Amino acid sequence: MKSLWDEPAARAMVKAYAAEGVGEDIALRTYSARLLGADPRLVLHGGGNTSVKTSAGDLYGEEIAVLCVKGSGWDLAAIEPAGHPAVRLAPLLRLRALEALSDEDMVNAQRQSLLQSLSPTPSVETLLHAFIGEKFIDHTHAVALLVLANQPDAGALIARLYGRRVACVAYVMPGFDLAKRAAAIFDAQVGLEGLVLLNHGLFTFGATARQSYERMIDLVSVAEDYLAARPPLAPAPRRSTGAPAAEVLPLLRGVLSQGAQASWPSRWVLDLRADHEVMRLVDDARLAEWAARGVATPDHVIRTKRYPLVLGEPGGDLRGWRDKARAALAAYIADYQDYFSRNAARAGGGKTQLDPLPRVVAISGVGLIGIGRNAAEAAIAADVAQSWATTLLAAERAGRFTPLGEADTFDMEYWSLEQAKLGKSARGRLEGCVAVITGGGGAIGAATAQAFAREGAQIAILDNSEGAAVTAAQAIDARALALVCDVTDPASVEDAFAAVCRRFGGVDVVVSNAGAATTGMIADLPAADLRASFELNFFAHQAVAQAAVRIMRAQNMGGVLLFNASKQALNPGADFGAYGAAKAALLALVRQYALEHGADGIRVNAVNPDRIRSGLLTKAMIASRAAARGVDEATYMAGNLLGEEVTAEDVAQAFVFAALMRRTTGAVITVDGGNVAAMVR
Ligand code: ZN
Repeated sequence: MKSLWDEPAARAMVKAYAAEGVGEDIALRTYSARLLGADPRLVLHGGGNTSVKTSAGDLYGEEIAVLCVKGSGWDLAAIEPAGHPAVRLAPLLRLRALEALSDEDMVNAQRQSLLQSLSPTPSVETLLHAFIGEKFIDHTHAVALLVLANQPDAGALIARLYGRRVACVAYVMPGFDLAKRAAAIFDAQVGLEGLVLLNHGLFTFGATARQSYERMIDLVSVAEDYLAARPPLAPAPRRSTGAPAAEVLPLLRGVLSQGAQASWPSRWVLDLRADHEVMRLVDDARLAEWAARGVATPDHVIRTKRYPLVLGEPGGDLRGWRDKARAALAAYIADYQDYFSRNAARAGGGKTQLDPLPRVVAISGVGLIGIGRNAAEAAIAADVAQSWATTLLAAERAGRFTPLGEADTFDMEYWSLEQAKLGKSARGRLEGCVAVITGGGGAIGAATAQAFAREGAQIAILDNSEGAAVTAAQAIDARALALVCDVTDPASVEDAFAAVCRRFGGVDVVVSNAGAATTGMIADLPAADLRASFELNFFAHQAVAQAAVRIMRAQNMGGVLLFNASKQALNPGADFGAYGAAKAALLALVRQYALEHGADGIRVNAVNPDRIRSGLLTKAMIASRAAARGVDEATYMAGNLLGEEVTAEDVAQAFVFAALMRRTTGAVITVDGGNVAAMVR
């Protein structure tokens, strides 16, 4: 591991922040905190914390000594000066004289001493930062250190590797007791560069931001060099599972959903990791035994639970595998409930059980799967699981992975201060749903994708234009999936749906939207044109529906199929025969799917939009039609009962509502501002 400290970059940051009135100490604190946060080998997702002791002016113009320490809710990778709120140092230091201090009193004392009353709550490790008398302090959960700190003989090993550069602190939960214990060890030994918290992580400190940061890099590098020299583990036997992940994940998603009680979340997004290292872990015969050992640092328990659900290799008999997975999940849940009862009683009660479902699944031959209420949460679980795999394998090479036991892990999992890190963000109405939108790069498709994303759904955009798909996905966020798909080619459709399953674990909502109009009087129309219109406006919808239904039935969680029909299906227009006939057939298809898959819980509805500015109705077409009717463009576009132009956003809203209507199937929803001739009858 190399120091990424770049003096010109650091000075530039000092200068830039000075223009905003931010002092040099905070600017450099921000600079090096970001360096730490950017490396997943050091910290992951809100883990780790940093501080600087400096001074700040109060209302009376007096300078007061403050500790600026990471506030909860901030991620080191993207921290800003406001992410290190200033706490008066003197009242924090006074606390050290106390014999005991409850977590609630500690948090209260920290908040009382904030310079800005609205600042985020300072880190749970604030007192440790306060009591250690060094200007800059950095704390990480570096993987290489966790490999050492989770060995049975960690103390001796660390002493051998580092000599008197670091001292070890036996595990105790973060808070007042840890702060006092760590500070006592720090005070007793002159010249320390860092403290290793056994089973937990590493603190370094220094007179400058650079010194503290570079000590961190240096101490972690010593561990890395030691580990690199350990003999490798014997390779795991190569497994070649007969079942691709795209088929296994929807089954797993269904198992998780059906294994949940009513009060637990039941719709999950999955995130598969299957790199070389992960496969080394999941293909090892010791997987189940390894998995039961525990988390690499207690902080991770809130992301991954104490251990993953372990499932065997799916072979050719996927139904048989699913039955075994159901039984394994039931056992996992029962085990978790026992763990809770046992430890809640030990802790004196007063705890509320979290849902007992796993957040990571390890499947031989497939990989490690993060589970979350949305893709972001699933990715965090998967990142932490991957880091756990790295730590465990390296620890087994170096000796034996021996993490913290059940009781201490439980105390962390059910510590109110730790749960607060998870935040209480509002859940969208379609949270946990995966929505696929074909023609997602077009006007209606892109607006629909955004409308579903606003409701919390994960989005896959399928379009025959890569550029359009990517642009529409980027307009949502980095997690939206853009896939090139020719919906008239069933193999291309199958590939796209398989990619969606590999990425998110399955499919819940499909908006089959891609289409285009062929014009010309029907009697003069070349047969090839009519057939081409049916390929795109009818058979493509069938290919999409077939692919979707196969996945929805594998999941056994119901589903929603929505089709963009057209006003033409009910109210034909001259020259639009090829389009209207195919769309009329599409309406029949909608009813057929509604009829045959109601019992699977799959709702099937059509939306009939009309006169929307899009690829089907271009600016030139609007101009010529308005001219033909002797009206201006705005009047032409508002030519409906409501007298208002209908937009792609209106259609998008109709698709969202259709996805939410729990007891409606086989319906046609018209979005045309009102047109008597096009009303469903
Ligand atoms: Zn920590």
